[in-house]
Amino acid sequence: MPEVPDSKLRKALADRVRYYRDLGIYDFYRRPRTGKEEGAESIVVPAGQISATEIPVTQVDAFPLVSQTPETPAQMPRTAAASPNLSTDRVTALRMIREEIGDCTRCRLHQQGRKQIVFGVGNPNAELMFIGEAPGADEDEKGEPFVGRAGQLLTNMIKAMGLSREEVYIANIIKCRPPGNRTPERDECETCSPFLMQQIKVVSPKAIVALGAVAAKTLLAVNAPMSELRGNWYDFRGTKLAVTYHPAYLLRDPRQKKETWKDLQMVMKELRLQMPEKAPEQKDSEN
Ligand code: URA
Repeated sequence: MPEVPDSKLRKALADRVRYYRDLGIYDFYRRPRTGKEEGAESIVVPAGQISATEIPVTQVDAFPLVSQTPETPAQMPRTAAASPNLSTDRVTALRMIREEIGDCTRCRLHQQGRKQIVFGVGNPNAELMFIGEAPGADEDEKGEPFVGRAGQLLTNMIKAMGLSREEVYIANIIKCRPPGNRTPERDECETCSPFLMQQIKVVSPKAIVALGAVAAKTLLAVNAPMSELRGNWYDFRGTKLAVTYHPAYLLRDPRQKKETWKDLQMVMKELRLQMPEKAPEQKDSEN
């Protein structure tokens, strides 16, 4: 006969659920029971047992405008060395999101040739986050975003800002390569982007740069041309968001690098990064 968990266990479960909710994780799936789990005979949590009264409503806010942690993002130390606990927490939180994604089969892309999920990379305490569209062939191969030609250009853009790839956080709207690098479908973005939202919440950067139209339109839920989207700051759930050209587009039309540099300078000003005396060299033919 299954037992209802005792109050200590109920509290531990409620704490766990609250922790997941703080990370923006709401859906829980029960694995089919094999009967081999430790304690499998004794514990079943009947639906509704972990009640709303045990999880204060204020903690269930999906993506609050203000950080729920005591420190505001602006006060947070940004290097792992400066705050080992904070860093460890964020590493753990990101790992949990990755675990939640699992070997994802939530959209059709898992059947369309993706080799692996490309989660995101960089500093969990980053002040700056870049968000692209979707992994390409190189990223699918390596499991890391922006490692192909467009990635090389992004790395150079980051360096031009006086930063390194390791200092920022890089992710995509979707985590699986669409076949033939086609543009992600709307339902694929809708299925996958909640995990990105969780990553943004954990990293809590000071600024986000949306790379290209797909990232910008998905994050801002607007349908406007890049010419209108660029050059402005947007409020993305309490975080400043700027839009610039996708590096892959810049490889096709290097003349737009000058405009991109203007966008990046706007971001540097916001983050109080030191401006180089000379604009980076912008060769039209290469990265
Ligand atoms: N283009 C993207 O949008 N993301 C990548 O990771 C690589 C290329």
